Amino acid sequence: MKRRDDYERRRPTAHERGYDGAWQQAARHYLQGHPLCVIHLREGRLVRATQVDHIRAHRGDYELFWDERNWQGLCQRCHSRKTATEDGGFGRRVSEPASKPMSEPVSE
Ligand SMILES: [Zn+2]
Repeated sequence: MKRRDDYERRRPTAHERGYDGAWQQAARHYLQGHPLCVIHLREGRLVRATQVDHIRAHRGDYELFWDERNWQGLCQRCHSRKTATEDGGFGRRVSEPASKPMSEPVSE
């Protein structure tokens, strides 16, 4: 059992980052039930998830933020990679095709 005031005292300025203690508790609870990174899992690799990611960017949408169906567990690496490639939009599908055509040249 943890005393709530003990938890409160230790809390940094989480409000400034947009996440408060309620989210951190919910995220931790979620990860207990979903302990594996879903992106690595698709590749058949077992990596512990440390972040709860929103599948669709919530953009401050309260209901979307708290909708567990919109959550997925990611490891730190996949989470930062997704954040970097996402650009805030969700026109791009989260899942990439497992097999890309080899003939296609990479032009970027
Ligand atoms: Zn991962």
